[in-house]
Amino acid sequence: KTFEDCSFSSQLKNAIAKQGYEKPTSIQCQALPIVLSGRDIIGIAKTGSGKTAAFVLPMIVHIMDQPELAKEEGPIGVICAPTRELAHQIYLECKKFSKSHGIRVSAVYGGMSKLDQFKELKAGCEIVVATPGRLIDLLKMKALTMLRATYLVLDEADRMFDLGFEPQIRSIVGQIRPDRQTLLFSATMPGRVEKLAREILSDPVRVTV
Ligand code: AMP
Repeated sequence: KTFEDCSFSSQLKNAIAKQGYEKPTSIQCQALPIVLSGRDIIGIAKTGSGKTAAFVLPMIVHIMDQPELAKEEGPIGVICAPTRELAHQIYLECKKFSKSHGIRVSAVYGGMSKLDQFKELKAGCEIVVATPGRLIDLLKMKALTMLRATYLVLDEADRMFDLGFEPQIRSIVGQIRPDRQTLLFSATMPGRVEKLAREILSDPVRVTV
């Protein structure tokens, strides 16, 4: 399998080649066709598997396919991650592929100025990468709306639960339209994460690496 088999634009294929990604990793081979077809997915994968690109690349396609939403405000892609370190890593992976498409990415997490993040979100973005607590704070401050959000990723869901973010995750999901595409990645699937997945994903495909 190659990236050529995916329904990527030549612009996106160029961006992938520029990163030196020659062929898809195992999680990418399994997940890309499913996510590109618009289905929800549960990905059981760890850091190092290439899981980030497995949700970032289809997100770029998803965003480029939504020109009719251009008049709305707020992010189209919303990614929640447990820690600021992981959120930053995801932000960097998003930037690699968004830049050449004119897609704006904002990262919001604790330990950084809330006012600066408020201003950045107000200026507009197509992708937001966030830790759950900070995203809730900024939603309460009306720094952004979820009107345009149609692609939701919960990354390292098990760790987010371990850190006590279940209520925040449920609140965020509750603010995003139900006809969204939802992707849940987790290294393990404890009962509580299974239950959340059953409640917020629609007819998901499960892939394991
Ligand atoms: P992740 O598991 O998403 O944290 O990715 C681990 C590392 O692999 C990151 O540095 C990615 O930039 C890199 N990576 C992801 N996909 C590929 C690929 N298809 N070929 C080479 N490197 C990759």
